[in-house]
Amino acid sequence: MENKNLRPRRVLLKLSGEALSVGADGILNYELVTAICAEIKKCVEAGTQVAIVVGAGNIWRGRQGGEMDQTRADHMGMLATTINAIAIQDTLISLGAKAKVFTAVSMPTFATPYTRDAVDAALNDGTVVVFGCGLGSPFFSTDTAAVLRAVEIGADAALFAKNIDGVYSADPKLDPNAKKYETLSYQVILRDRLKAIDLTAAAFALDRDLPVYVFALDNPENIIRAASGENIGTILHGGNI
Ligand code: UDP
Repeated sequence: MENKNLRPRRVLLKLSGEALSVGADGILNYELVTAICAEIKKCVEAGTQVAIVVGAGNIWRGRQGGEMDQTRADHMGMLATTINAIAIQDTLISLGAKAKVFTAVSMPTFATPYTRDAVDAALNDGTVVVFGCGLGSPFFSTDTAAVLRAVEIGADAALFAKNIDGVYSADPKLDPNAKKYETLSYQVILRDRLKAIDLTAAAFALDRDLPVYVFALDNPENIIRAASGENIGTILHGGNI
């Protein structure tokens, strides 16, 4: 992979499954997905390389499996992320962008099996990369997949688009005194077990010193602002408390 400082800005965008379904009767709000993809296309046109890790909360999460064997329940979750990945790919292509799905679990009829070098080449070619199946292993989340892939592809930052505009000291819907953090260190997240990001993801991001920008997706234009490095929510960082 080429020197990070000599190539265009590269970001890893994490889209939760729920973010794709807000306001919809079914699993996808197509209007919203189109608006999100239009912003992603603008990022690429502005010269930023974009890779996306997508979740599956709109379809299935492993923990919904109840009495199920967790590995099988997580397999269902990974398949569900691939449904969302193909929907995003299709929308991007319909808008005139180049987009390709890479899956951590090989399913070559639907998508390209993941290799870091193939993803690197696609990004350099201006293709939006969409990751399906998370990391391909049960017991992990797409938050963890997002930080790991971000580090693997040499992203400058990971962008976590959520249904809340940052990380708060308490749930702002329940506590009027809840305060929004402008920045927050992974050490505090791990110490206080804050629900900003999965703890496995926080530990890995701390270890690799990867910044994560948390922001609200209610306005899809936030994607291009966060992608250009603006703090419109909370920046998670590996610095001191
Ligand atoms: N999953 C998994 N391994 C991974 C990523 C995801 O097993 O590396 C499964 C897991 O069951 C998870 C589901 O896929 O619940 C959907 O991912 P996630 O819950 O992170 O989606 P989100 O909450 O972001 O929509």
